[in-house]
Amino acid sequence: MEREMDTMTTTKTGQHYTVANVGNFNELLKQGEMYKGKLFLKDILNLTGMEVSLNQLPPGAQVPFYHAHIENEELYIFLKGHGQFQIDGEVIDVTEGSVIRVGTGGLVTWRNNSTDEDLLYIVIQAKQDTLTQWTRSDATVPDQKVTWPE
Ligand code: ZN
Repeated sequence: MEREMDTMTTTKTGQHYTVANVGNFNELLKQGEMYKGKLFLKDILNLTGMEVSLNQLPPGAQVPFYHAHIENEELYIFLKGHGQFQIDGEVIDVTEGSVIRVGTGGLVTWRNNSTDEDLLYIVIQAKQDTLTQWTRSDATVPDQKVTWPE
């Protein structure tokens, strides 16, 4: 699917990267095509192994449906605000620093149950049970002195 670029979004692409500036997190409500306040990054950055969204949910708002994933696990990273996350009927309070992994089949919804502060969070989804190397086991560190252009 071709994404129509928002005016707030600027991108630059190099051989091994795509970089974008999508604006301030507290202005995400101005973005989002499918869901207001949710900005997906896969198409902006040409991600190939994960989908990531940046999210802003205003005070008193809730996601009006449950959903579960078929092949992907999800990671919710809460950055700001106060809310509640419901998974398989269990309710978990979330705030800055709360990180939740949801496996396939987990039925979830969430809300901002505060009265005065946005709930800001990042959601990452990637295919469950596919991670075979990570951090140092997936890195090369060339013997090269770090330099920066003047
Ligand atoms: Zn999901």
